[in-house]
Amino acid sequence: METKRKILIIEDEHDISRILRDYLTKNQYEAAVASNGQDGLQMMDMLQPDYIILDIMLPDMDGIDVCREIRRRNNIPILILSARGSDTDKVLGLGFGADDYMTKPFSLSELLARINAHFRRYDSLTLASERDRTDLLRLANLEIDKKAYKVSLDGNEVSLSAKEFELLHYLASNKNQVFSKSQLLDAIWGYAAYGDENTVTVYIRRLREKIEADPSHPAVLKTVWGVGYKFNHE
Ligand code: CA
Repeated sequence: METKRKILIIEDEHDISRILRDYLTKNQYEAAVASNGQDGLQMMDMLQPDYIILDIMLPDMDGIDVCREIRRRNNIPILILSARGSDTDKVLGLGFGADDYMTKPFSLSELLARINAHFRRYDSLTLASERDRTDLLRLANLEIDKKAYKVSLDGNEVSLSAKEFELLHYLASNKNQVFSKSQLLDAIWGYAAYGDENTVTVYIRRLREKIEADPSHPAVLKTVWGVGYKFNHE
């Protein structure tokens, strides 16, 4: 079974939070309630919700401060509930990180529609980036297949070690971007702090021998003097 999305409701008016919780639960979400700002922040850390509904008038903290504090910690979507009137201007006028807002009294079905729409957008973006990651990279006469861990040059398979493959794939997925040896060490080997940057030099040389027409005058894996390396592609 699919895991349910978790929504945290930070709202001190019990009638409203109960109605919200029941309604969201009926509509395939998991919902939890915090009745003040401090509890809300604590529950956010504990529950790791996927979405937050935040009342702006709370007994212990200004909802806007709660919103800022949430935003300081992560980029979870926040929908603000505000009372009709001056709050609305405040919510709209200040760029403090809320994604959406509704004025009380609000329609439950509209609230649900907005939440659903958020997750639909989110899912389609996530799917698109998964697809991009698994796609074949085709650059000049090279084809790099991340799924199969295979590289071919002019249609002929090139035999690479796993790390050689990962280094080439990393540079090719960020073509024309220059990376220092320590950045590459960190990205591919994951131990920049203790690693020997010479490792990168050695792997670049090996890759050049395998994919460059003239390894001593590389056209693809270029050295950028004093900085590092890049995958060169017009
Ligand atoms: Ca309130």
